Amino acid sequence: MPRSAAPSRASTASGWRRPISCRSSSRRPTWPSCSGSRQPSTRRGSAIPARYSPRRSPAARPGRWLIGRTRSKSRASRSVSESGRLRPLPALLDTLRATVGAPHVLTGVDLSPFVVEGRTPEAAVFPGSVEEVAAVVRQAAAAGAAILPWGGGTAIAVGEPPPRAGIVLGLRRLTRVVEHEPGDLTVTAEAGLTLGRLQETLRARGQWLSLDPPDADRATLGGLIAANAAGPRRHLYGTVRDLLIGITVVTADGDIVRGGGKVVKNVAGYDLPKLFIGSWGTLGVVVEATFKLRPLPDDERLLAARFDRLKDCGAAARVLLASELIPNAVEMLDAAAATTLGLGAEAALVVGFDGLREQVDWQATELTALVGPLGGRDVTPLAPVTWPRLATIAREACTSPAALMTFSVLPTLVVDTMEQGAQAARQHGLSSAWAAHAGVGAVTGALMGGREAAAVATVLAEWRAMAVAGGGTATLTWAPLAVKSQVSVWGDGGPAGRIMQRIKAQLDPGNVLNPGRFVAGI
Ligand SMILES: Cc1cc2nc3c(=O)[nH]c(=O)nc-3n(C[C@H](O)[C@H](O)[C@H](O)COP(=O)(O)OP(=O)(O)OC[C@H]3O[C@@H](n4cnc5c(N)ncnc54)[C@H](O)[C@@H]3O)c2cc1C
Repeated sequence: MPRSAAPSRASTASGWRRPISCRSSSRRPTWPSCSGSRQPSTRRGSAIPARYSPRRSPAARPGRWLIGRTRSKSRASRSVSESGRLRPLPALLDTLRATVGAPHVLTGVDLSPFVVEGRTPEAAVFPGSVEEVAAVVRQAAAAGAAILPWGGGTAIAVGEPPPRAGIVLGLRRLTRVVEHEPGDLTVTAEAGLTLGRLQETLRARGQWLSLDPPDADRATLGGLIAANAAGPRRHLYGTVRDLLIGITVVTADGDIVRGGGKVVKNVAGYDLPKLFIGSWGTLGVVVEATFKLRPLPDDERLLAARFDRLKDCGAAARVLLASELIPNAVEMLDAAAATTLGLGAEAALVVGFDGLREQVDWQATELTALVGPLGGRDVTPLAPVTWPRLATIAREACTSPAALMTFSVLPTLVVDTMEQGAQAARQHGLSSAWAAHAGVGAVTGALMGGREAAAVATVLAEWRAMAVAGGGTATLTWAPLAVKSQVSVWGDGGPAGRIMQRIKAQLDPGNVLNPGRFVAGI
């Protein structure tokens, strides 16, 4: 994401000032460590409000957190038939149409893009304001309808299959940048805005949100938060948890609640924004978010070193991580993934650097010297278009994927996970492809198809056992229903799962938000 990718001063109406490049000796920059560019605010009188302030309307009751509420009988059980269909559907549809306008309520064949794991929703509703989101949540919940928050839909299949039909609540009409204060290095935007569109806006002012999950042109800010999505640059810049400082959510009761704010150190009491990160739409609908930003770097480069053995690649990664170089990405690829990137080797180490041009030049030279003695050869630059492929390269390496599992393991166990995982697949007659954000221990294994679901499920169970034995976790990110029926998506939640169940029961006592799709049956 180099600054050179931004429009030139001459090509933008406002132009932008050269941001202060900020690099520290620590691996992950602390925030805020530099002042960034001093840009005029996007706030323009009343056209873009300073920040969302809920209007007092029937649809916008003041926010409050739900504590200790119990219900004798869930609304869902009263309103949903044995077949999982909603009983009072026509009445609910009328109410929803009156709330958001008939063109923004889809039914029938228009629902085909919103089928999840073979289950068609009752309707897809697209509110045009935060107040309308709150009203829709209240109305759907009162009818006992499950609510499926929907951003770009890029990760909507992640999770257990939806146990009952419900209402898709789409955020595609909430796409405003509410406030961008370049001098403060913060931005507040509505949750339906795609990351790609946000980056375009920020780039014009020499800044960026340092998150790079795949499919940024479709993935929305709300989905990003709900999925805690990240990409290869998380090695240096962290994840949503490091960047989200404020959030507005609509709770299951239709309350509009704000947590955190625009100030980087703003938490008095519990850090509520964190609760919603990675909650997969089960605790509330994210409608607005405030993030910390960074100045765009002067330059950025991606380099690949080829290896004859994955073990040597792992050794080189460890030496790199212990060196004085500050990579922004450290990716390890097995033969299948490396070949898919056109590298043609048994393993590859793909390393990114950013910063001032001379820093990047120096680090690129040092990398060659560092990996050479460990078997790294042919260090070559990769085209910038390679960046977004890195997070999905294991999957891309499979012509017909049978399942995709992501692992969180100790960085020292990355090579073992990849090698033992591939070995387990081979023992069951299956092949696999592997890639890892090696520095943070985030590994992806893609299992190739061609065998029956039972064999796939057996391998996945072995993969999970392997990760757990090493103190890690495994998530079944994607698999056909026949496999999902045999392997849990999230694994055993354990005692933490029981605490999560209690949090869910407090915040969503009617169990209407993405019910049954998350860990521990949440
Ligand atoms: C091929 C592929 C590979 C991927 N690889 C990675 C990877 O390597 N690392 C990684 O971190 N991510 C990965 N992802 C996930 C993806 O990048 C993110 O999950 C994405 O940011 C989701 O955004 P979305 O708007 O498409 O969300 P959706 O797909 O619409 O929704 C995802 C989940 O979030 C919920 N949700 C959506 N919007 C909201 C909201 N406003 N409020 C509350 N809940 C909401 C949904 O109900 C659903 O449970 C991958 C996705 C794909 C398709």
